[in-house]
Amino acid sequence: MDFRLTEEQKMMRDTARQFANDVIAPIVAEDEASHRFRPELVRQMGEMGFYGCVIPEEYGGNEAGMVASMLVTEEVARVSASYGVTFNMQSQGPALALLRWGNEEQKRKYIPGLVAGELLGAFAITEPNSGSDVASMKTTAVRDGDHFVLNGNKTWISNAHVADVALVYAMTDRAAKHKGMTCFVVDMKKTEGISTQAIEGKLGLHNSPTGEIYFEDARVPASAVVGEVNDGFKICMTMLDNTRLSCATRAVGVARACLDAAMHYAQERTQFGKPIADFQLIRADLAVMYVEDEAARLLVLKAAHEKEVDPNVRNTMSVSVAKYFASEAAVKAANMGLKIFGSYGFSTEYPAERLYRDAKSFQIVEGTSNIQKIIISNHLLK
Ligand SMILES: Cc1cc2nc3c(=O)[nH]c(=O)nc-3n(C[C@H](O)[C@H](O)[C@H](O)COP(=O)(O)OP(=O)(O)OC[C@H]3O[C@@H](n4cnc5c(N)ncnc54)[C@H](O)[C@@H]3O)c2cc1C
Repeated sequence: MDFRLTEEQKMMRDTARQFANDVIAPIVAEDEASHRFRPELVRQMGEMGFYGCVIPEEYGGNEAGMVASMLVTEEVARVSASYGVTFNMQSQGPALALLRWGNEEQKRKYIPGLVAGELLGAFAITEPNSGSDVASMKTTAVRDGDHFVLNGNKTWISNAHVADVALVYAMTDRAAKHKGMTCFVVDMKKTEGISTQAIEGKLGLHNSPTGEIYFEDARVPASAVVGEVNDGFKICMTMLDNTRLSCATRAVGVARACLDAAMHYAQERTQFGKPIADFQLIRADLAVMYVEDEAARLLVLKAAHEKEVDPNVRNTMSVSVAKYFASEAAVKAANMGLKIFGSYGFSTEYPAERLYRDAKSFQIVEGTSNIQKIIISNHLLK
């Protein structure tokens, strides 16, 4: 077992760290207040190859690998959890699913644009009455000649109202439940019958657009089917294996940001005549934050390494373990970090409250912590 990073992996990580510090960090506070999303940052990260690590060169990628992808994602998420989400929208979600399940025409049409950050991506599973229970979704796709007609709505979709292309999951055979779901690659801006609406008033991730999508007799060509008709559930679950891992990595980045901010503050803030970092109770919290973040990172890198050895491996167990542990560790670190800031942790002038709000997302998205525990226990008991 070799825990050392390759020179290429170190180079990708360091480039991402520098970009996050130099380009993203200066605008985080301002954009947090205005809830602004900057697509130009996505394009810049695309140009720098951040989204191309898991994509072959012939589709615009750089083949640096899944471990490199996670290292880059962590560095961006450490500075902005919102821009960390873009890795799922541009590469780990639609692009990687199309690479695995799409036909040649779909791959050439969409993957290079997603990887370059020129096309904004999305994936739409969740509906108002269907979250954890994916197979209960109500959106339908009915064949009509050489088209499918989509009806229904999706909610809590990252990039919903800004996306150029989305993987949309819909039921083609409701009676067959999870065996009657199909995945479509949809041109969001060019398809009649699609409308979107932003979800305002979120707790966190203020620079990551989230919204609803409405399909009203939206006609998509039969050529938009990804894989085979009724293969959607399988595609969805393998896609979630990848997006979940990316989510775990973002949690690692946010937990590290909590630790960095708390360490900095604890050394500056004096009480009882000395820096609060001198108090053993504060040090104990910092130590726990470090240990749990390091453990979460190792779980993420193990799962990423498994995918690198065989990109088509279903390492659902490793991914769920990493996602569950990293999400819980991030929320705990955000809680401990905020506590170390005292009343300044309660202020929007310091980063602790943003990290606290953003960290909560990890326990919900890509399958809640409860769902990860169900997956893990099912694997244990099978
Ligand atoms: C910021 C943000 C971005 C998102 N982006 C996307 C996106 O891009 N695409 C997309 O499709 N979705 C997206 N989602 C939706 C997200 O994936 C869902 O919210 C999530 O899967 C949970 O579904 P739900 O909210 O309907 O909760 P529910 O499924 O209603 O769950 C409610 C509670 O019940 C628990 N629960 C449910 N079933 C069980 C069970 N069997 N046993 C025990 N407990 C259970 C859950 O853990 C949770 O605590 C996003 C959500 C957020 C907040």
